[in-house]
Amino acid sequence: MEDKIKDYKGYLIDLDGTMYKGNEPISEAPGFINQLRKAEKPFLFVTNNSTSSPREVAKKLNEQFNVEAYEEEVYTSSLATADYLKTLSGKSVYVVGEKGLLEAVLNAGFKIDEENPDHVVVGLDRALTYEKCEKATLAIQKGATFVATNKDTNLPTERGMVPGAGSVVALIEKATRIVPTFVGKPEAIIMDEAIKRIGFKKNEVLMVGDNYETDILAGINNEVDTLLVYTGFTKEEDMKTVIEQPTYAIQTLADWRIDL
Ligand SMILES: [Mg+2]
Repeated sequence: MEDKIKDYKGYLIDLDGTMYKGNEPISEAPGFINQLRKAEKPFLFVTNNSTSSPREVAKKLNEQFNVEAYEEEVYTSSLATADYLKTLSGKSVYVVGEKGLLEAVLNAGFKIDEENPDHVVVGLDRALTYEKCEKATLAIQKGATFVATNKDTNLPTERGMVPGAGSVVALIEKATRIVPTFVGKPEAIIMDEAIKRIGFKKNEVLMVGDNYETDILAGINNEVDTLLVYTGFTKEEDMKTVIEQPTYAIQTLADWRIDL
């Protein structure tokens, strides 16, 4: 780790592997968040999870993992997708996804059209059917823009690595031969929208996460400094051969000092 730590104005913080691990708490996480609050450092939890609403995510952090969190501090790939759709023209959408994505799109003022939508948005859908894939495919073939919440191919669960949003997207990508616009980490869209929301400049915030491929590359690709924490996906030995290193790397969040 570098000797001199920059005094960041705001923090973007990943969830799984950083604030908790699957269904297990990470013991250093509540203290890290309390320190940020004491130091009055604004932060956003930035997650590729598109299935839960910000309210559900905040509830889980508070009740299951003892991390103090509020709905407005949670920025999911579904919210980023809805914010991105607002920058395009056309107000109708067909959604392949769960409640979190549907809610975000409806709250942003879009209406659902199953036949001739302006946009098709695809996220993880654990009730996926052939019919939904068919509707999405036909709409994209008719010219609807194809937007995907994130490209994570798998989702870690206690049972193993189950299919993630990226795998659902791949099916529709194969059927349409059209590559979607991806929104979630490591893409620029979610980072730009999160930075807009927190209200600082790119060089004033720090991206904190456990996954080099998503969190850290999201920072590196978008000129945001990064803090890699080895409590989740990426292991210290994985980083030995990586050329583009994070700005900082630590074993646990207890190793990070926030200047008061
Ligand atoms: Mg993570």
